[in-house]
Amino acid sequence: MRALVTGGAGFVGSHIVAALVDRGDTVVVLDDLRQGHRAAVPPGVRLVVDTIDGPAMDPLLAEGWDVVFHFAALSLVGESMAQPLRYLMENAGGGMRLIDACIRHGVRRFVLSSTANVFGDAAPSPIGKDAVLAPSSPYGESKLMLERALFWAQRQGLHSASLRYFNAAGADPAGRLGEDHRPETHLIPLVIDAALGRRGPLDLYGTDYPTPDGTCIRDYVHVTDLATAHLAVLDLLATRSVTYNVGTGHGHSVRAVVAAVERVLGRPVPVREQPRRPGDPAMLVAGAGALRDEAGWLPRYDTLDLIVQHAAAWRVAHPNGYGPD
Ligand code: UDP
Repeated sequence: MRALVTGGAGFVGSHIVAALVDRGDTVVVLDDLRQGHRAAVPPGVRLVVDTIDGPAMDPLLAEGWDVVFHFAALSLVGESMAQPLRYLMENAGGGMRLIDACIRHGVRRFVLSSTANVFGDAAPSPIGKDAVLAPSSPYGESKLMLERALFWAQRQGLHSASLRYFNAAGADPAGRLGEDHRPETHLIPLVIDAALGRRGPLDLYGTDYPTPDGTCIRDYVHVTDLATAHLAVLDLLATRSVTYNVGTGHGHSVRAVVAAVERVLGRPVPVREQPRRPGDPAMLVAGAGALRDEAGWLPRYDTLDLIVQHAAAWRVAHPNGYGPD
């Protein structure tokens, strides 16, 4: 099939591109390279450098696509709190122009990279896909707006999957791709770098949460399993639109992540306990049964140690990430 992947040079997008290429699909990546990396796009895959509503988009969509995967977005929750309108305009406004262009060019299938951030902080875990929607940040709000736009876009013949990710983590098991955010804010790469002595101690945000060890619990899902979730929903889109949580259904505390990194790397992780980070809910774990039952998706790398092993292997092999772009 012919697949267009916006944001295909980013962390999650690049793993979907690899999964599509591995199964023989024709893939083109659209990425403005503000966050994405040229080196994350496999050799032989065409990269178009532009924004989702830039001048390249219309002629590109006119080439004809079986599916558009949409990852390109501003994605820092904290930054979105400081710049709400920027997030709403770029992510939701730009995304809606992309959806409209897809409809004009006859695209019938669209997969949206959405987020567990569409649920309120107070949603009890495990979070079912029908839990109350109350985004706690403009980032989450911008994704929910796109989910709603896609709901109405069905009337114009576009079927979609909105996939609400929990914590994407890990790296390509074959070592071709990894996680390189600048700045890095995610727990697992930060813990690995602390263990490798590439930074100071890990700042552990909050030790007084109502969890068994007092630290926050998250549902870490391997990025390669996230990629297969995107492929698993494609057949469903022949007849309808769907929305799913993508998580493993079980959670790990920050201290459990620290312990896993110590086990995998055989090195101690220096930790500096800090107060809670504003806005962090105690526990976010997916009720992910619907994706398994309806789309047959099964996570393959579903242990914290495997996630950490793959993430650590890439970081050890790439001390400068993808290097300068
Ligand atoms: N965390 C931490 N220190 C850090 C970064 C994250 O203790 O330097 C904690 C954070 O408070 C949260 C968990 O690790 O409980 C996962 O954070 P991350 O930013 O990776 O993902 P989030 O769940 O916030 O999207």
